Amino acid sequence: VHMNGDFQYDIVMEMTFDGLERELHEFGLQGRRICIVTDSNVAALYLNEVEAVVSRCCRETSHFIFPAGEENKNLDTVRSLYEVLIKRQFDRYDVLLALGGGVVGDLCGFAAATYLRGISFIQVPTTLLSQVDSSIGGKTGVDFDAYKNMVGAFHMPKLVYTNISALKTLSPEQFSSGMGEVIKHGLIRDASYYHWLKDHASMIHARDLEHLKEMVKISNHIKREVVEKDPTEQGDRALLNLGHTLGHAIEKLADFRLLHGHCVGLGCIAAMAISIHRGLVQEEELTRLYELMRDFDMPVTVSGLSSHDIVSLTKNDKKMDSGAIRFILLEQIGKAYVDKTVTEAEMSKGLIPILA
Ligand code: NAD
Ligand code: ZN
Repeated sequence: VHMNGDFQYDIVMEMTFDGLERELHEFGLQGRRICIVTDSNVAALYLNEVEAVVSRCCRETSHFIFPAGEENKNLDTVRSLYEVLIKRQFDRYDVLLALGGGVVGDLCGFAAATYLRGISFIQVPTTLLSQVDSSIGGKTGVDFDAYKNMVGAFHMPKLVYTNISALKTLSPEQFSSGMGEVIKHGLIRDASYYHWLKDHASMIHARDLEHLKEMVKISNHIKREVVEKDPTEQGDRALLNLGHTLGHAIEKLADFRLLHGHCVGLGCIAAMAISIHRGLVQEEELTRLYELMRDFDMPVTVSGLSSHDIVSLTKNDKKMDSGAIRFILLEQIGKAYVDKTVTEAEMSKGLIPILA
């Protein structure tokens, strides 16, 4: 899938890393130096292969590996990366390549946005979550102390190169988590996609590459469309936050027992429940959503949390958004909207189905 226009970068999807060579040529990145930024897990799986492909067309290839895990998506790691870049005398024409999941993409993108006031970077996403969601749209950043994504920048990659077959090595939990964002895409934008997911659940679950390719393609299209209209999140981009207001609160309280996409899934259930209470969506849709999530081994309840604590935490979102939470509700399956009138009582009621 090649795309241009305002968005200014291409999304390329293949079943191997080999095509990177051609793409780098196409972008005139060939005489440049490239530093591949990756984490310890992905380095063990794919660094040699990617480095070999990249070194065929770049002046000089190097790498920076940091220990895998969200706890390393911070300014200390960025600092070590800056040190390496300075030591290697990276200049404005050189390029960073993010090889890995959302943690690598966010951190590498942020370093690229800030080093020498911004150098080019390329996303090579390897998790489902990063392939369908985080590599698209130009949001980069790192965590600061306990605050997720507190420091960041909008910085568009020059290229997103997705190798679908890298999903084969992803753990079942990580794959299942990525499905949370996929289901979200269907819910906010595309009812037929949502139903397609249900109809092809077993092939997707088995990670049949053709099905994964189709799925990543449609999800990319949805994310791209929403972001393209609103790159800096003044309006419609907020729709991508379906399930995230309550999901983030759950993620914090569950203290990393649950993965991000799983929390988003739980948040989607709650948002749908609120939409049902408002008479927007039919009651039986909730059962369908449960079934779909179960098809992908996603949790549909969480234990040990109180709705009071979850709702209290959403007040952080509120502060950050000058007073009113921009809650995302469903007008119908495949159509989401921003609602600033959702009350705490409604949120508590919406949480009932997921609190075990
Ligand atoms: P991640 O990057 O931590 O990857 C999950 C795990 O899978 C890691 O241990 C990683 O080493 C491993 N892994 C990666 N690719 C693999 C592969 N092909 N095979 C086997 N193992 C592999 O997590 P994630 O879920 O990809 O991303 C989560 C991050 O993304 C969060 O920090 C979140 O804030 C961020 N995010 C950013 C955006 C955005 O728009 N920028 C959107 C959503 C999420
Ligand atoms: Zn998310």
